[in-house]
Amino acid sequence: MAISTPPTPDDTQTKPNGNDAAPVPATLTSPPLWLCDVTKEPVAPDACLACARNGRPEGCSFTPPILEALRSSMKSDAALRAIYSWAAQQDVTVLRVSSLTGCTRKAWYRLIQGTPLETPSRHWARLRGTIFHKALESMADETVMAEQRFIVDLRPFGVKAAIAGMVDHYDPATGVLTDLKTMNTWKKLSQYPDLPHKHHIAQVWIYGWLLEKAGLGYPRKMEITYMTMGDIRTVPVGLPTPEGKQYVEARIVAKAKAIVEADPTQGPKGDAQADWECRYCLFKAACPDKRKTPPKPKKKTAKAKKG
Ligand code: SF4
Ligand code: SF4
Repeated sequence: MAISTPPTPDDTQTKPNGNDAAPVPATLTSPPLWLCDVTKEPVAPDACLACARNGRPEGCSFTPPILEALRSSMKSDAALRAIYSWAAQQDVTVLRVSSLTGCTRKAWYRLIQGTPLETPSRHWARLRGTIFHKALESMADETVMAEQRFIVDLRPFGVKAAIAGMVDHYDPATGVLTDLKTMNTWKKLSQYPDLPHKHHIAQVWIYGWLLEKAGLGYPRKMEITYMTMGDIRTVPVGLPTPEGKQYVEARIVAKAKAIVEADPTQGPKGDAQADWECRYCLFKAACPDKRKTPPKPKKKTAKAKKG
């Protein structure tokens, strides 16, 4: 089921980093949105910008335009605000697609605690991705680059939640769904034999499910365009079989249920699929299910090598 999302005029700010809690109206407070890069203490955006304008301390590289971009990237758009307002009226929990592709416990932490504040340095990789998207959006014609938000109500599946997702580009005329990903590497993308990554395929399949449930039909072709600062590569994503599509739907419902119906004092079990997910997880300090990365083997010294 698709929900129409009429624009609303008020200007609200999301909690940092796109967590699944409702946006905080900017008129209520002006809360810190990130940590100072130097002191690691929470700092309000206006105070941070004033510091940047007035000769920030050594050790901080964040100039006003970058900080303004960071603040702007945390604002919720009209469609998202309409989704949260609809969800509040209906008493359902909004979950983002990103909550369905990663660790269940991480998504639960994000829902009940909100995402912890980060330093601009730590946020930089995601902000860089947003800058890429915004640049494409402003330079490309709407007919070829149109981000669209969708929401699907899970109550018909027995879960008091709704899945909200934003599709980078879908052309109903050709049935082609394209997702854009930025990668933090200087290596040629042709040197990555494992593209598309498994979790990116899972994400694109969820977008396909969203489009179908929203009444736009299942895509006839799916692809991911990977971009780095020096390279670009578009790779096809295989369409799921009919059984695969059923599996995707069952996974979405099961995961959403596990997140929203978890015991509020215990939470669901962590199910990160790879060590890197725990390594970069903002909740790892509190998490009992954190995967342990085995220490790297020590390099042999010259003496040891001789022996
Ligand atoms: S400009 Fe840099 S040093 Fe100053 S408050 Fe902001 S992050 Fe901290
Ligand atoms: S530390 Fe790992 S298992 Fe725990 S919430 Fe984070 S990603 Fe999940």
